[in-house]
Amino acid sequence: MSQPDCFFCKLVAEDEHVRKGDGFIAVKDINPKADVHLLVLPERHVESFRDVSEFGADEAKRMLEFVAETAREAGLDDYRVIVNVGRGAGQTIFHLHWHVLGGRTLGGFE
Ligand code: AMP
Ligand code: ZN
Repeated sequence: MSQPDCFFCKLVAEDEHVRKGDGFIAVKDINPKADVHLLVLPERHVESFRDVSEFGADEAKRMLEFVAETAREAGLDDYRVIVNVGRGAGQTIFHLHWHVLGGRTLGGFE
C-alpha cells in the first residue's frame, strides 16, 4: 500500500498534519504559493489523479469532502483547488495530492 521510495508516503507517516482522518491528511505546503497553501492527500499510495478509478465511489466522495472541510477549517470561504496531473502539468510528486490555495496567490498557479 505504501511505497518505500515515495516522499508523500513518508509524509503520511510523520506527525506534521493540519488534519487527519478518514484515510486522508492535510499538510501545509513547504513552499507556499498563496497566503494559505495546503495539500490534501490520501494516506494510501495512488500515483496520480489519472488513477482516480482506484477509489471506490464512497472513498472518492469522502476525499472531496475532506478537501472542502480542510478549506473550511482553514477559514477559507473563497479558494482554489488544483491537481497537477503528470510531469507536463507540473506534478513533481507522484502521490496524488490536491492543492488548496486561499488568500493572495503568490504566483505559479495564475
Ligand atoms: P506538485 O508540483 O503538484 O507535485 O506539488 C508538490 C508540492 O509539494 C509542491 O507545492 C511542494 O512545495 C510541496 N512539498 C514538497 N515537499 C514537501 C514537504 N515535505 N511538505 C509539504 N509540502 C511539500
Ligand atoms: Zn506515496
